Amino acid sequence: MDRSATKDQYRQALEVAHRHALSWLDTVDERPIRPEADVDGILDSLVRTLPAQGAHPAAVVEELADAALPGLMAIGSSRFYGFVMGGAYPAAIAADWLVSAWDQNTGSRQPTPATAAVEEVAAAWLLELLGLPAESGVGFVTGATSANMACLVVARDAVVRARGFDPSAGIQQAPPITFLAGDAVHTSVVLAGRLAGLGVPRTVGADAEGRIDVGGLERALADSSGPVIVALQAGDVHSGAFDDFAAAVAVARAAGAWVHVDGAFGLWAAASPHLRHLTAGLEDADSWATDAHKTLNVPYDCGVAIVRDEAAMTASLGAHAAYLPAVASISDPYDRAPELSRRARGVPVWAALRSLGRDGVVALVDGLAEAATGLADGFRAIPGLEVLNDVVFTQVCLAARDDDTTAALGEWLRAEGTVWASSSRWQGRTVVRFAVSNHGTDAEAVARTVDAVRRGAAALDLRA
Ligand SMILES: *Cc1c(COP(=O)(O)O)cnc(C)c1O
Repeated sequence: MDRSATKDQYRQALEVAHRHALSWLDTVDERPIRPEADVDGILDSLVRTLPAQGAHPAAVVEELADAALPGLMAIGSSRFYGFVMGGAYPAAIAADWLVSAWDQNTGSRQPTPATAAVEEVAAAWLLELLGLPAESGVGFVTGATSANMACLVVARDAVVRARGFDPSAGIQQAPPITFLAGDAVHTSVVLAGRLAGLGVPRTVGADAEGRIDVGGLERALADSSGPVIVALQAGDVHSGAFDDFAAAVAVARAAGAWVHVDGAFGLWAAASPHLRHLTAGLEDADSWATDAHKTLNVPYDCGVAIVRDEAAMTASLGAHAAYLPAVASISDPYDRAPELSRRARGVPVWAALRSLGRDGVVALVDGLAEAATGLADGFRAIPGLEVLNDVVFTQVCLAARDDDTTAALGEWLRAEGTVWASSSRWQGRTVVRFAVSNHGTDAEAVARTVDAVRRGAAALDLRA
């Protein structure tokens, strides 16, 4: 194919994508949030046998957009509260398009200076906003799960190295590592621990909101003689609760433990002067995992691994080979993440932060927490419903008088389509979880959500 035909194809394919993307974004807040079709329905509308002949790029994108549309969840809606999923800011989506078009494999600084530089600025801004040590190493990874894993691998190596063992020889010969967490530890930390060879963490207790039992932690630390890693949590997926970092970090530090914080969405409380008290003491930990695709509202996927001791980070995650360019004094992106090749996923972070500014980030984080409080207040006024958690941040757990009714309310809401919240079990009860994660969730969205829940309660004939 000649070059001008290729150029035409880029233009035509991207124009189709542009049109469909705008049509989606224009309607995402008003369409029913749940998808109309399930996986089988979408499979039915896709060509299933691999075609022998190809198709024109613009036609391919058209076919994809048409087939996918009925199966798309309106995650970008201001009334989507499922799991903990953020929307995406305009600057971040647009920057992400450029990241794809530029196609810069941002593993190494030297061949991709532009995206490496933009990511370095984004990393410094993140540390400043989150109140973390400016000298920390920052790695852009796919999400908080891989950020947790990257941090725990660094922690694992550091705690055995501190006992005189070389982790590159493998940790089988090293003294066994004690891995501790609160009872409400997130499943991704459990997975990350397994991937890092630490196994499932030993849990030391938690209070009703999921905050680690610091007394239990102290006792477990007193029982262990070898190297120790403690995983703390900023933002419980059900309650939004934050561990008592000042107390827990002090106890863990006194025992010589490495302290890691899973702050997938909760670390962002540190960016707000009004919410910062929730994270007090967290800055004294050794490593932190967070997401940009949740609270910061950049498109999937983007997580951030942060380690205070950058040398420890690069010692564990760094890659070296004769063909890989490196400057001895400055780490490369691939030295701070468990992968060599990757998209420049820090660029949309830069764009979101640049478009918000510091004040915008504060307004974003405060707005999410205010919306959660608004939801909880509205729900409490509906007879037959109760809010089970202490709403300190962005999470609200709603329950009716019994589990079956709560489950039915969740089903009713998701089918009705005005809001989408996921169901779960918490504190021995079925709950409908509202995780406020979208920048668009304002007072109007809150009012419409409360109204939908009120209608659901009426339809199910709920009474106090
Ligand atoms: C979402 C979440 C994770 C995992 O993050 P991913 O981005 O889904 O990998 C970890 N911990 C908490 C508390 C979370 O909410």
